[in-house]
Amino acid sequence: MSSTLLETPSTEVMAKYEAVIGLEVHVQLATRTKIFCGCATGFGAAPNTNVCPVCLGLPGALPVLNRQAVELAIRAGLALNCAVRPKSIFSRKNYFYPDLPKGYQISQYDKPVAEHGFVDIVLDSGVKRIGVTRAHMEDDAGKSMHDGHRDSDRYTYVDLNRSGTPLIEIVSEPDMRSSDEAYAYLTEIKQAMQFTEVSTCDMEKGHLRCDANVSVRLWGAPQFGTKVEVKNVNSFRFLKMAVDFEIQRQIGVIEAGGRVQQETRLFNSDTLETVSMRSKEMAHDYRYFPEPDLVPLEISDTWLNRVKSEMPELPTLRRKRFETEFGLNEYDSGVLTQTREIADYYERAVKASTDPKGAANWVMGDLAAMLKAEAKEIHESPLTPENLGELVTLIGKGDLSGKLAKDIFPKMFATGDSAQVIMDREGLRQISDTGALEKIIDEVLAANPKQVEQYKSGKTTVIGFLVGAVMKASRGQAAPGAVNDLLKAKLL
Ligand code: ADP
Ligand code: ZN
Ligand code: MG
Repeated sequence: MSSTLLETPSTEVMAKYEAVIGLEVHVQLATRTKIFCGCATGFGAAPNTNVCPVCLGLPGALPVLNRQAVELAIRAGLALNCAVRPKSIFSRKNYFYPDLPKGYQISQYDKPVAEHGFVDIVLDSGVKRIGVTRAHMEDDAGKSMHDGHRDSDRYTYVDLNRSGTPLIEIVSEPDMRSSDEAYAYLTEIKQAMQFTEVSTCDMEKGHLRCDANVSVRLWGAPQFGTKVEVKNVNSFRFLKMAVDFEIQRQIGVIEAGGRVQQETRLFNSDTLETVSMRSKEMAHDYRYFPEPDLVPLEISDTWLNRVKSEMPELPTLRRKRFETEFGLNEYDSGVLTQTREIADYYERAVKASTDPKGAANWVMGDLAAMLKAEAKEIHESPLTPENLGELVTLIGKGDLSGKLAKDIFPKMFATGDSAQVIMDREGLRQISDTGALEKIIDEVLAANPKQVEQYKSGKTTVIGFLVGAVMKASRGQAAPGAVNDLLKAKLL
């Protein structure tokens, strides 16, 4: 594959430069209907079935603002620590595109619904605050589908189901300095939007889309370099690749004596390179003006406070609470708040158990491994959080040994049955009754005279072997603590 890099700069050359990155993130608001009409927002409907005169952009059709979309936008603003404007204005952003039947997008320009916020990202070096310039509402365009790999079928189709879907665009300050920071920022945005139920952020369905603005400058240079906007970065992995590619490319251009052109580039996910899409001369003049068909959006204190009071807990707060309420360490609470689904699952499991730390270990250990092996998401787990909580409780009560629990766990996952149900069905139960245990121990001791001899002559480590043999003979049902005590007493 040919590279558009002039020459890959050496690490030494790269180290002379500092990268500057700002992200523009589009998040699809989780409303049932579109932003300016009553059409459904659902994904996967037959093309052009969820449409009406408004979202088709027919002349004379009038937009009506979706209240729920506004509430989710307010939530997003609050989650991003923004000030929510008491009065914001919708504007027309004019451009021509085949999948934009109105000939303009309805967006917000100089008076967005939310502004002046921030997001704290967690890096190896500590916490870094990234400024959020603004978050504004807008409607999405339709989708062009380029079909036809055959000559006889070379068409482009337009599906307008997506036209009019509510979005919030979150614009960051140029505060990031590496692809890792950009990655961490996008992760934080995604978590905040998911935890507050603003959006599902399903990237495969395009619910979270990202454009990356990248520039480079020599260390210590007083001003930013010329920025390039990379569009179409639709996965976390691609974001990292696109930013790194762009940093290298720009340094290469400068080192070769050239100048970085201000332009829009596209990330090509096949070649993993960015390619020029349009230069500054071709830049759009959007001719913004206030949307005459919509009154200004006024958000009263009463409304704002109500939305505030209904806000689901933010990921950072939830992380902290997991530490204080459940005694988890920072690492564990970070893992268990990776997604809203994991956090919810864990919390339900804790409710059904008596041991938050034990529940955490099972969720992060055996459950995570099992989900991974079966390529399932946690919300698809056949093993319910309540059953997991019960398992942890049974272990705590001594009804189930750790060993037995490990054996039962895959069965719980496969069948969805509770530990108790499986134990009853298979006649499994922890044996802690002394009489029953002594019987098994006597048999084991009789069968292993050599180890008994060794123990008595001072090699006490063979006790481990004997405990193992008893556990095996009891099909894992013996209570290990009791076995240990009884064995020692008998071997005296
Ligand atoms: P435009 O006028 O091209 O839309 P903005 O100033 O509105 O540019 O910024 C758009 C995005 O680009 C923001 O996320 C901002 O942080 C980022 N940005 C601005 N200048 C730079 C730069 N020199 N290098 C990297 N990113 C930048
Ligand atoms: Zn419609
Ligand atoms: Mg701008």
